Amino acid sequence: MIDHPIPYGHQYITDEDIAAVTEALRSDYMTQGPRIAEFEKAFRTRVGSDYACMVSNGTAALHLCALALGIKPGDKVITTPITFVASANGFRYEGAEIVFCDIDPRTFLMDLDKLEEMLKASPAGTYKAVVPVDFAGYPIDEERLRRLADRYGFAIVVDACHAPGASFTDSRGRVQKVGSCKYSDLACFSFHPVKHIATGEGGAVTTSNPRLYGRVSLFRTHGITKDPSMLTKIDGGWYYEMQELGYNYRITDLQAALGLSQLKRLDWSIARRNEIARRYDEAFSGSAVRTPWRAEGIVHAFHLYIIQVDNRKELYDRLRENNIFSQVLYIPAHTMPYYKRLGWKEGDCPVAEEYYRHCLALPMVPSLTSEEQEWVIEKVLEFAR
Ligand SMILES: *Cc1c(COP(=O)(O)O)cnc(C)c1O
Repeated sequence: MIDHPIPYGHQYITDEDIAAVTEALRSDYMTQGPRIAEFEKAFRTRVGSDYACMVSNGTAALHLCALALGIKPGDKVITTPITFVASANGFRYEGAEIVFCDIDPRTFLMDLDKLEEMLKASPAGTYKAVVPVDFAGYPIDEERLRRLADRYGFAIVVDACHAPGASFTDSRGRVQKVGSCKYSDLACFSFHPVKHIATGEGGAVTTSNPRLYGRVSLFRTHGITKDPSMLTKIDGGWYYEMQELGYNYRITDLQAALGLSQLKRLDWSIARRNEIARRYDEAFSGSAVRTPWRAEGIVHAFHLYIIQVDNRKELYDRLRENNIFSQVLYIPAHTMPYYKRLGWKEGDCPVAEEYYRHCLALPMVPSLTSEEQEWVIEKVLEFAR
């Protein structure tokens, strides 16, 4: 019997993390200190991109991508309905028309066959950006997306908020890390407490395109620059220019200290999450519980472990009575009242809606003890028909 709550996701903070933040607090900087650049460097090194820009949260990261790409009102942007609404909202802020592409019933990621059909049905250049989501930590086939992008002319912004540390193998057998932007233009990450790296609020944009990196950095800090190569004139050492209507989307030095410390445990965390996933897979095999599918050649980041069951609501309630706080992720974005007002309705993405009726995210935190996991497994098998 477990008598404490077991959450579906939770931050994991160590004494080392606390020491890192304490040290930052005792330093000269609270915001815009040296730890931000250090965190950026460590992060881009880990994901394999040329640039990383740390920002205030994952939603700001998505909005900055829209700004960097010059998204204008009426521009069409495709995303998936099975995501946190921010994937769509970040582009909606600039007035984009959001088009939801249904999901693949096996991976729950954007269905690239369906995407290709949509692209084929309109002239090249109709869609300005495609925003796939590495849902649950499963990396999307970026190589195929690149081929489509080259043919149909759109930018690829990967919402990788669930997938730092994930990778896939491309057609030449090379391992490609999520966020490296080898095939995509931009990638976004979140450091919200339930994500792999927790900084409270926090996020990142990665890219290997110097022009896009310049735009993202400029819009992050009010559109202000002091870079002599960008200024229209130089009045003196104090001089700066506001060149665009930007935002204050900065992260703080304190958060960067925490992020740097947490990043050191990313590989351990991915390995631990995969171990937990394998135990769930094994425990549920042969039962009525459907477990997540994965292809060969990918490293899944397992932000979420999602099962599918027929009696989802009953299972959710029963688990709660037993201190197990599972979660339903996500309510399809196109069925939100806001997106319904923009013309979307139930029935528009049938695979996503079917997924939603059965999905349940089980506790997936690297600190989950085997006693806790066995308790979850026991209760799921008891109630799943
Ligand atoms: C968490 C998340 C976001 C938003 O990140 P915040 O840091 O909470 O703003 C965006 N997309 C996905 C898929 C997420 O999971």
